[in-house]
Amino acid sequence: MTRKQIIAGNWKLNKTASETRRFILTLKNRIAGMDALPELLICPPSVALETAVDAARKSGIAIGAQNVYWESSGAFTGEISTEMLESLGVSHALIGHSERRALFGESDADVNRKLLKVLSGTLIPVVCVGEALADREAGRTEEIVVRQVKNAFLGVAHEHARRIVLAYEPVWAIGTGLTATPDQANAVQGLIRRSVGAIFGGAVADELRILYGGSAGPNNAADLMAESDVDGVLVGGASLDADSFAEIIRAAA
Ligand code: PEP
Repeated sequence: MTRKQIIAGNWKLNKTASETRRFILTLKNRIAGMDALPELLICPPSVALETAVDAARKSGIAIGAQNVYWESSGAFTGEISTEMLESLGVSHALIGHSERRALFGESDADVNRKLLKVLSGTLIPVVCVGEALADREAGRTEEIVVRQVKNAFLGVAHEHARRIVLAYEPVWAIGTGLTATPDQANAVQGLIRRSVGAIFGGAVADELRILYGGSAGPNNAADLMAESDVDGVLVGGASLDADSFAEIIRAAA
């Protein structure tokens, strides 16, 4: 089964709206003329989403939110609903990034609520899972990651499962310069695919795109993506510079 690769950038708390526009216009130039482009996704801060959607028009670059809330409206200060994102032309949403889990107390149950809400609309969810260093050192990587996947998918309808993208992001590799080796990434991502297969069957598991994230960059993206269960990369730091992001895209093109 050939799965179309996805190169995604998570900008976190970086770039104003005008910096976002400049980046996207530069990136459009860099990728013009590249053959066989992978799917491209940029997740800027929420205040730059509208600008990003506008700048990315007709470029094939999809724009995603870094977070969503599970209610549509009401007294939830600071939150943003899936309907609001859809109305801007945003097409994707990250869910359960490890920074949301660690810094903002997001639980597996929250991730599940967010996923179900996203799937009730039109956004494509990118669900992030990954073990902390202590989990890996204790030999608990499998247990933790499989549990996160199972808990995230609770109550997901079979017909919606096909829309989900997963990202394996070992917490110890995020923003640290430490990357999982291609073998390490592939081993966990194969396991994730099998655990999704156990829930939704082999056909869904076969189609599922699983990205690797954690200090991915121009120097290692090609090796990571050469692995059978690595269907692209979710890039933090190295997605902030249009040249380095374009190099990663070239590695997949
Ligand atoms: C991320 O935030 O999803 C990420 C993978 O960050 P970095 O590439 O900087 O490790």
